[in-house]
Amino acid sequence: MTDTRIYLSPPDVSDLERKLLLEAFDSNWVAPVGPDLDAFEAQVAELVGVRHAIALSSGTAALHLALVAAGVRRGDTVLVPSFTFAATANAVMYLGARPIFLDSTAASWNVDPGLVADELRSRAARGQLPRAVITVDMYGQCADYGPLLDACDRYGVALIEDAAEALGATYRGRAAGSFGLAGVLSFNGNKIITTGGGGMLVTDDGRVATQTRHLATQAREPFPHYEHRTVGYNYRLSNLLAAVGRGQVQRLDELIAARTQTAEFYRDALGDLPGLTFMPVADYGTPNWWLTCLLVDAEEFGASRDAILEHLGAQNIEARPTWKPMHLQPLFQDCVMRGGEVSADVFRRGLCLPSGSALTDEDRRRVVDAVRDGR
Ligand SMILES: *Cc1c(COP(=O)(O)O)cnc(C)c1O
Repeated sequence: MTDTRIYLSPPDVSDLERKLLLEAFDSNWVAPVGPDLDAFEAQVAELVGVRHAIALSSGTAALHLALVAAGVRRGDTVLVPSFTFAATANAVMYLGARPIFLDSTAASWNVDPGLVADELRSRAARGQLPRAVITVDMYGQCADYGPLLDACDRYGVALIEDAAEALGATYRGRAAGSFGLAGVLSFNGNKIITTGGGGMLVTDDGRVATQTRHLATQAREPFPHYEHRTVGYNYRLSNLLAAVGRGQVQRLDELIAARTQTAEFYRDALGDLPGLTFMPVADYGTPNWWLTCLLVDAEEFGASRDAILEHLGAQNIEARPTWKPMHLQPLFQDCVMRGGEVSADVFRRGLCLPSGSALTDEDRRRVVDAVRDGR
């Protein structure tokens, strides 16, 4: 095979990040504390439009501490979109709580706000309200926060926004991550910006921010002798990685523009083919186009999703099926699932195309040709 591999969503780092990383190294703030961490948090808080941001070792850690902040404890229930990455539901399991899975709406592939409202109504009537509702901004598109927040507010249930995939996306002009009690961001290597691994909890709530910082640093009480009253975690991000994040945030507009161009390129080049339907974009906001995904109707297109995947693989192109819903996972087979078949159908037919921000037109062309030839 002569062609270089095209990855789904590889890191895109530049001389700017390299310079900031080396400066942090030379400053000897080689620890989970330091000026780059402070600066990175301030940048992201401003970008998201919230008062507080706490940099953590992963998005999953941020989910865990967001659920703690919402008061989730052993035996509680938490509403979770079935169509998500396992990290969302795993964080619920860490606390000994049970996820109740909800289906997506076909309008955006995000959680169906009608199902959230129905589930809260029927659980309120039984005196079994969940402790929290987690929403996910799938593939960089916000969930429908108007009706979602209405429903949560009506029953006094905390909403936690898993915006791990959505930094830079907006909903009615407001930034992803800014909705509900707390938002969660991820800087994993495949996300829209990366620190090589990391995450952040963002919130307007001062109590949540203070508690999160405390729990993320082993819940150390302010005594010289290391006093502890509660179980803590070692969840802080390294200052070195925060330095990389500072550079990535500065480039966020450029990175989103590149992914947007990729989405447009694929739409222009593949939109005319029968049997391919791109992820629907709701008119309430702007996605960050983290990944461009589409549904394949095997009959109409002349090849199945899996046949296309195999053909792309043979061309040294990495593509993936859309997330396998949690209610179909062996791990969660005993959990309650509400709603229809939207997420299962998206999983059966969905395909994520290479969407990294460093893709060249030549790369995009290779992907498009491979999809077309896959028939
Ligand atoms: C990536 C991701 C996470 C987890 O983030 P990590 O930083 O990898 O722990 C959580 N939720 C969703 C929807 C994600 O895509």
